[in-house]
Amino acid sequence: MKALVLGSGVVGLMSAWYLQKAGYQVTVVDRQSRSAEETSFANAGQISYGYSSPWAAPGIPQKAIRWLLEEHAPLKVKPSLDPALMKWASQMLVNCQLDRYKVNKSRMLGIANHSRQCLIELRDKHNIEYQVARKARCRCSATRNNWMP
Ligand SMILES: Cc1cc2nc3c(=O)[nH]c(=O)nc-3n(C[C@H](O)[C@H](O)[C@H](O)COP(=O)(O)OP(=O)(O)OC[C@H]3O[C@@H](n4cnc5c(N)ncnc54)[C@H](O)[C@@H]3O)c2cc1C
Repeated sequence: MKALVLGSGVVGLMSAWYLQKAGYQVTVVDRQSRSAEETSFANAGQISYGYSSPWAAPGIPQKAIRWLLEEHAPLKVKPSLDPALMKWASQMLVNCQLDRYKVNKSRMLGIANHSRQCLIELRDKHNIEYQVARKARCRCSATRNNWMP
């Protein structure tokens, strides 16, 4: 079976890796001449599995209204009557309710734990060396539950 992966950032390359392991014949296509030249090029390099939280969370709708007026807001939405935007906004609102947030958060944590396990296995199996600083569980609230494999 053949698979085509569009984009060779960290997500595309890892998808290609696991697809190939699953028996696919994989082709990766990118608009750049080399891999990881865009967002994956120079991020903060932090691996923080416990810090996964959905954007759709209680309190976000109120903040989002304030952000509309800020120049450097963390979430930028240009209001319009575009049906796709309206659909997205209504789904976002529903998911900002506490019960939905809890469900989504626990799903994200499941994926985060799985991806942590994948990185550990990949690193150990292939002896991948990279500059990594590990730290024990941090007690401060902002980084609580952050773990480095
Ligand atoms: C300032 C900053 C700091 C960050 N810090 C962290 C951090 O500390 N820890 C962390 O885990 N994450 C961090 N992130 C997020 C992380 O970098 C991204 O989530 C991740 O790099 C996204 O990877 P990607 O493969 O999805 O996207 P990209 O790396 O952007 O890859 C997408 C690829 O698709 C290609 N492409 C796009 N359109 C086309 C097209 N039409 N045809 C062909 N190819 C195309 C691009 O050329 C690119 O190579 C940070 C992000 C930013 C911006």
